[in-house]
Amino acid sequence: MGIVVQKYGGSSVADATSVKRVAQRIVATRKAGHDVVVVVSAMGDTTDELIDLANEVSPLPTARELDMLLTAGERISMAVLAMAIGNLGQEARSFTGSQAGVITDAEHGRAKIIDVTPGRIQKALEEGAIAIVAGFQGVSQTTKDITTLGRGGSDTTAVALATALGADVCEIYSDVDGIFTADPRIVSDARQIPRISYEETLEMAANGAKILHLRCVEYARRNDMPIHVRSSFSDKPGTWVVKAEDANTFNSSTGSGDASDSEERPMEQAIISGVAHDRSEAKVTVVGVPDKVGYAGSILRALGDAQINIDMIVQNVSAATTALTDISFTLPHTDGQRAMTALARLKDEVGFERLQYNDSVGKVSIVGAGMRSAPGITATFFEALADAGVNIEMISTSEIRISVVVAENQVDAAVNAAHAAFELGTDEVEAVVYGGTGR
Ligand code: ASP
Ligand code: MG
Repeated sequence: MGIVVQKYGGSSVADATSVKRVAQRIVATRKAGHDVVVVVSAMGDTTDELIDLANEVSPLPTARELDMLLTAGERISMAVLAMAIGNLGQEARSFTGSQAGVITDAEHGRAKIIDVTPGRIQKALEEGAIAIVAGFQGVSQTTKDITTLGRGGSDTTAVALATALGADVCEIYSDVDGIFTADPRIVSDARQIPRISYEETLEMAANGAKILHLRCVEYARRNDMPIHVRSSFSDKPGTWVVKAEDANTFNSSTGSGDASDSEERPMEQAIISGVAHDRSEAKVTVVGVPDKVGYAGSILRALGDAQINIDMIVQNVSAATTALTDISFTLPHTDGQRAMTALARLKDEVGFERLQYNDSVGKVSIVGAGMRSAPGITATFFEALADAGVNIEMISTSEIRISVVVAENQVDAAVNAAHAAFELGTDEVEAVVYGGTGR
């Protein structure tokens, strides 16, 4: 049997009891005949605590030292887990990201993986050991310094290793049973999705669903590495993230979409797969911009130069009497202050009237590959919002997604309305949230 990569998130290894439980699961997988490589996150909230510690000794810790500090979190969990497995009579060897061959660029805090050379992992497997790898970290090819991949980066470590090792599957364990049609904390009848395409998962993740690290899904899609999202607290079947052609056939035991398999049962293509929401954005409006060629360009250039990623943009038609227009856009609210400063500097040059900033907004998105060939989806969505008394402030779409910006205190109502309108709910209560933070 082939190689299985398993990634355990922080809440799955939060304390000694959890580590022992996870060790049992790993040993069971090994005993079933698989070669097992495990990627671990730091225990519980360790990463946040280390960041707090850094900020206590320095308001601006250097990026190099911060990375060195944060990678210690995963070092603790990998060694502790290896010990727990050893105690169950199996050999486990832990490796830092660097030892596991995770080579990155030199961008501290948000390094990108540029190569994976897992020679030591392969050797450990050949010698019958279980390999435990510290997630979220690597080593820079140029500076040789230790780097981190950005918060939540262990998912990406797992998919990258799975790809480099030619694993059959990358299993990602957290404290939820899989990917749901909406956040079960908001929608009580949210249903667990058995199979979903990489593309839909990317849209869900990019639009606020806290299921998987965005880059991990991109990496998996590029390399066609199936991801199996599961809970380490249950034996439920979880969610398979696979390529679009395989997403509509389902084999409950292997997750394989092979048509020759007798267990294969085609599922009706769902038009909408899920509803995602995001409260992390803010909305900026530049009021009273002269409606002349090039002004929108200058405004966006100022934001680009300030390294601010904007999401939705709306430019209103100018009022005929004034020839002035308003331009609104959304951005992560953590970038709000910088955006306002950058724009304020343009006030005289562009000659707009004023700036408005609102971070009491939220984005609600419906995602589904089936909407490509189903007319009327937008109408159904907007009617449902209207019936729930939700006012739409902004709209944006992709081929397989429709997003709206609404007032923050209407996000829950909007998510529930959309979920009900597309009949995504289930009669059985499925959603159980086991751990703390959802990761
Ligand atoms: N421990 C890191 C974090 O909390 C990486 C991870 O959990 O994937 O962001
Ligand atoms: Mg974490």
